[in-house]
Amino acid sequence: MSNNKANAIDDANLTDATASNRNGLWVGLLILLIGVTLFILVYSLSGQREAPLISKEAKLHIASNTTDNIQKVMQFPDTQWQSIENSNFGISPEAHWFKVDITPSTTDDPRLIEVSYATLDFVDVWFVDQTQEQAVILSQIKSGDNLAFNKREISHDQLVFAVPDSAFTISLYLRVKTQGIIMVPIKLWKEEQYIQFIGSHRIFIGIFYGFMAAMGLINLFLFVTSRNVSTLLYAGYVICLSLLLASSQGLAYRFLWPESVLFQKYSSLVFAALMVYFSSAFTAKLLDIKYKFTPLRKFYNAISIAIFLYIACLFILPISVMLLLLIPMVLIAFFVVFLTTIYIAFKGRTVANYLSVARCSLLLSALFSIAGSNGWISINLDPIYLLMVGAVIEALFMALALAMRFNTQRLAAKRAYIKAGENKQKTMQAKEDLMRLQKDTKERLESAVGERSYELEIAIRELNEANHELERKSSIDALTGIANRRLYDKKILTEARRSRREKTPLAIAMIDIDHFKSVNDTYGHQAGDEALKHFTGILNQCIKRPSDTICRYGGEEFVVILPNTDLDGAAALMENVRLITEVSQLDFEGDLIKFTASIGVSTRIIATDAESELLHAFADKLLYKAKKAGRNKVMSAEF
Ligand code: GH3
Ligand code: MG
Ligand code: MG
Repeated sequence: MSNNKANAIDDANLTDATASNRNGLWVGLLILLIGVTLFILVYSLSGQREAPLISKEAKLHIASNTTDNIQKVMQFPDTQWQSIENSNFGISPEAHWFKVDITPSTTDDPRLIEVSYATLDFVDVWFVDQTQEQAVILSQIKSGDNLAFNKREISHDQLVFAVPDSAFTISLYLRVKTQGIIMVPIKLWKEEQYIQFIGSHRIFIGIFYGFMAAMGLINLFLFVTSRNVSTLLYAGYVICLSLLLASSQGLAYRFLWPESVLFQKYSSLVFAALMVYFSSAFTAKLLDIKYKFTPLRKFYNAISIAIFLYIACLFILPISVMLLLLIPMVLIAFFVVFLTTIYIAFKGRTVANYLSVARCSLLLSALFSIAGSNGWISINLDPIYLLMVGAVIEALFMALALAMRFNTQRLAAKRAYIKAGENKQKTMQAKEDLMRLQKDTKERLESAVGERSYELEIAIRELNEANHELERKSSIDALTGIANRRLYDKKILTEARRSRREKTPLAIAMIDIDHFKSVNDTYGHQAGDEALKHFTGILNQCIKRPSDTICRYGGEEFVVILPNTDLDGAAALMENVRLITEVSQLDFEGDLIKFTASIGVSTRIIATDAESELLHAFADKLLYKAKKAGRNKVMSAEF
């Protein structure tokens, strides 16, 4: 019965789990659809980019210390300038000089030069008219991250410079020096076009940052209410990734910290490091690395320690060194997280599947972005937008993984709840059984004790009866069946006390059969015994009060206790005994045996314990007197 129930619960959970897996698949497809839509949006935006890329027309000169001066640079012969293939010049501490000729505009529209890589430290621009004999510097503009944002000539997140109006070709000299990657995509825009371009691109940028901020904040709130660390790590990741991108696009410098050159300097590194931390911690948490894949735990710990050390070193070591360290650190951490996630996905964890897809989308977009910005592949798309689309898809898949994980936890909690209910029921059942058992045992014990007590009672009663019997037997004379001397000793004490208490006379008669020896001698011992029985019969016949006691004192001697009897009464009673003895005869095997008895009798109201013995001795003395007086006599006297 309970087994069936458990199976039913398992089935219910199974259907729940498979249903949620199926739902997860649908959501996954939906996310991919969103990704494709975003990609199409970005691609259509790129179509509006008509600005000529003039990087390829530019000439490069890597400056040495001595030539770091515009006047000298302008005098360089053409041989000192080299053509450039793409706009990425790697990491170098040296200043890079670019020179490009700008032909006069066919219209009167004002024009702009854009260096569309926002994180360069020093970007100095000179527009020079070299058509005259003497070169004339038309304008000179300083920009770059090393200048506080609010000091920029054109207050824009990208590095843009107004091209001076001229009827002749003018030369643009551009000096770039930075501690990061020297990426210099130089673009020439008509101002109107640029405004249109920026306007439409702002839609995408708005969508992207709005989405990322919403995801970050929602999860932050979720953390505040649910205290689930995964949501905090997710929010941390999304926020750091957004800030990193915003900082690399110049948006953060423009809108968040326009006055802080120092912050702009460190922001990218700090956010990149934190992003890696949150990404790995989120993955570790979501995949239960700590408990379910313990051997992988050390990798994740190593990442956390490395990030901690990295952030600590940021303020000690030069930025160029830290930048060089950042790239391998990010790559190693990314691949550790990526490969372990894929490994766990192969082990059959659904959550890991979604995380793998998330990582893949970021990896692919990052690869395309890098390839695009290095000119390895030609895509008519701003590489950073590709990265942003990848980041959105990643964030959505991570959110899906988080939701799946919540669902798994919910199911586990449900199972635990049901299990707890079952256990409670089992406990109650066990308790009930125990109580029943205790009750049964108690009842059985009680009945056993009752039985034993009853048996014991019977045994005690039997023992008492046996004791009484024994007592009786030890007080009875075996031959005559009357009290023996032992009983006499007890009885005389009792009656003496009663006499003393009630102040009544106590009579004692001592009886001895006369010449009994000759009865034995004449007729034999057996005849003697029969004679004793015969005499007992006479005594029983004469002495009838229930309170009287007849005892065989020994041999052919008898003693009679007569409570509450005065001397006359006792003497008369004994006279009667003597008379009947005298006249009666015993027929023993044809022989007629006759005998007589002598009796001494006395009475007294007893005053002390000792008097009963004295009374006995006195009666005995009277008996002796009766014998002396010729036997067959009753001698009576007051004591
Ligand atoms: P007296 O008149 O002086 O009392 O003479 P007696 O022979 O009766 O006295 P004695 O004390 O000399 O003898 C008592 C005799 O009683 C001795 C014994 O043979 C006899 N006798 C005592 N007890 C029993 C008994 O239980 N059975 C029988 N058959 N004889 C007994
Ligand atoms: Mg005698
Ligand atoms: Mg005698």
